[in-house]
Amino acid sequence: MIRGRSVVVTGSTSGIGLALARAFAAEGANVTLNGFGDPEAIEQQRREIEETFGVTAAYSGADVTKPVEIAEMIGDAEETFGSVDVLVNNAGVQFVAKLEDFPVEKWDAVIATNLSAVFHTSRCALPGMKRRGWGRIINIASAHGLVASAEKSAYVAAKHGVVGLTKVAAIETADCGITCNAICPGWVMTPLIAQQIEAFANTAGKSFDEAKQEFVAEKQPMARFTRPEDVGALAVFLAGDAAATITGASYSIDGGWTAQ
Ligand code: NAD
Repeated sequence: MIRGRSVVVTGSTSGIGLALARAFAAEGANVTLNGFGDPEAIEQQRREIEETFGVTAAYSGADVTKPVEIAEMIGDAEETFGSVDVLVNNAGVQFVAKLEDFPVEKWDAVIATNLSAVFHTSRCALPGMKRRGWGRIINIASAHGLVASAEKSAYVAAKHGVVGLTKVAAIETADCGITCNAICPGWVMTPLIAQQIEAFANTAGKSFDEAKQEFVAEKQPMARFTRPEDVGALAVFLAGDAAATITGASYSIDGGWTAQ
């Protein structure tokens, strides 16, 4: 039962995170949005969620690379809604370079955002979930949490780390009414991916649409993008009663990418 639950989605001002927040709000959950962006646009998204779904939507501007700000975000959500029942770790960044050329500060930023943040949010949310005997942690990993690609050392290391951390959290909470699972999307059309396609199109001298098709077909037997709302539907399923015994799992939603 998701109605009335308090759901925190990190990185939910854009792309998959926004779709995740909307999917939970559509089920009647109160949501805490988080992420960067134009304050007016974020406020508009927040209000639109409240009006469309008749729930309460809060916003935290916490930078998930900062443990103190994460603790404040979880504390604020607990104060506003009385609990954090579902934690969705979605915030993520990408940087692409060969390992020996990878800027050290970019490595640190990708690991902090994509991996350490998942540790810190979970660390802060788990005591309340354990006290109440119910909780769901859903980590948005990636196909890159299961297999690698060149020039993505930090991202692949972070996402493999997220899959590992998911398993540890699942084992530690197995008797607490809590589940912890990872979702591993293949290509999903969002600003994060549009940037990579644009860079590829410019280097290869192709149009955006040509580059987009080549991009997806290079990795996925099924040459189509997953929609952000499909990731939302999977997360809602994992938070529901039917998924009560699913824990420590990694769900691929990747057009067959990792079946190869
Ligand atoms: P996006 O760039 O559209 O959104 C990223 C979100 O994270 C934004 O809301 C941004 O403000 C937020 N964010 C970034 N750094 C942050 C920080 N330090 N603190 C707080 N918020 C921060 O990206 P997306 O494609 O929607 O990706 C969302 C997640 O899905 C990421 O973890 C990404 O690795 C994963 N993923 C995406 C794809 C894809 O094809 N798009 C595939 C697999 C996995």
